[in-house]
Amino acid sequence: MKENFEKIVSLAKRRGFIYPGSEIYGGLGGFYDWGHLGVKLKWNIEWAWWREMVQLRDDVVGIDAALIMNPKVWEASGHVSGFADALVECKKCHHRFKADETKGDECPDCGGKLTGAKQFNLMFKTFVGASEDSSSVAYLRPETAGGIFVNFKNTLSTNRLKIPFGIAQIGKAFRNEINPKDFVFRTREFKQMELEYFVKPGEDEKIFNEWVERRFAWYKTIGLGDVRKREQTKEERAHYSKATTDIEYEFPFGWQEIEGIANRGNFDLSAHAKASGQDFSYLDEETKERFIPYVIEPSAGEERIALALLCDAYTEEKERVVLKFHPKIAPVKVAIFPLLANKPELVKLARKIYEELRLEYTAVWDDRGNIGKRYYAQDEIGTPYCITVDFDSLEKSDVTVRDRDSMKQERIKMKDLKEYLNGKIV
Ligand code: ATP
Repeated sequence: MKENFEKIVSLAKRRGFIYPGSEIYGGLGGFYDWGHLGVKLKWNIEWAWWREMVQLRDDVVGIDAALIMNPKVWEASGHVSGFADALVECKKCHHRFKADETKGDECPDCGGKLTGAKQFNLMFKTFVGASEDSSSVAYLRPETAGGIFVNFKNTLSTNRLKIPFGIAQIGKAFRNEINPKDFVFRTREFKQMELEYFVKPGEDEKIFNEWVERRFAWYKTIGLGDVRKREQTKEERAHYSKATTDIEYEFPFGWQEIEGIANRGNFDLSAHAKASGQDFSYLDEETKERFIPYVIEPSAGEERIALALLCDAYTEEKERVVLKFHPKIAPVKVAIFPLLANKPELVKLARKIYEELRLEYTAVWDDRGNIGKRYYAQDEIGTPYCITVDFDSLEKSDVTVRDRDSMKQERIKMKDLKEYLNGKIV
């Protein structure tokens, strides 16, 4: 598994999924750049999430809040005082670790002695405006949720919503992780896909359990069947959480969290109501009850899901390496080849098919080398279907469609091609 991981990291770079950030200057720990295929992969994850969490529901709306907010947001939410990890440092090599990554007082890298733990706040600080004094300090958001809570009233008054309802957001979050590691698993800049689902107190436990099941089931729909649920212990839970269940995937470096579903109670709305002096209560029109809603939060990490999908899809077979992505997730859906690049009649017809198909799916064109090499190149990036236009196509108006996983080839009439692909890809 570990050996495969190195191969996956190298394939990700070689084929343009993920590059080390600022590579020409020696990189910057915990930051990565996503290439053409990586961007497509991430879009597909985002879209699959958004479709399920927003588009197909009547009770959820979206938001895109600013990355930098008034620092009072993070004071009220407890992040300024409490969003910290325990940090230990090796007295010999000065490497730093999260205290829970070490055992005893010996440094994992050189055997030197470790210092005692001190609290290290994970929020990145910056300054807003021209002066760099304490009055202009601001933070890059450590989670997207803050932007949702402060817009609770705006969202409620501008949409026709009744409890229970949710506000969803996909966006960047930043954490100055002590020890970024395991490729894009633990980075300092990442994207979260978060839903804050507001419920009536008393209904929170039931709805929490429903969200755990719903989120668990979603992973199957994107081709990640082998995930498990794990309840966090009281010691592990964040300062705001009444209960948290993680969804974990077995990476080559072990079972790790890709999503957390938390019951945040009314911690956030109460804290913001108190700090801002605003009324965050909700009036139930039917029962005339007024209460501060509780909130259930499924929070998933886009890059961790992308990495899980890459690890899960990576397959070595006798003569090829294949990324067996679910077609919904595959960055490229279909590749189109003229059998021979030097036959203008084949190129013309293949080009016509390519131009039509790319109006609907991400399609690529390849006319280099022999067909076997072209298949190999597409297998390695996980393209589920390859279409070849040959001499028979000119006579019979059909093409060869080759399936990535079974490697079987079928003749399909050109007029039926879209329907054939739609049934498999969408
Ligand atoms: P961990 O315990 O691994 O640090 P967490 O419990 O602090 O994660 P949450 O605060 O629950 O994470 O954030 C929700 C999701 O955001 C996580 O499930 C994960 O997918 C993603 N995430 C959190 N921290 C990082 C990070 N440093 N790099 C990439 N993704 C992250």
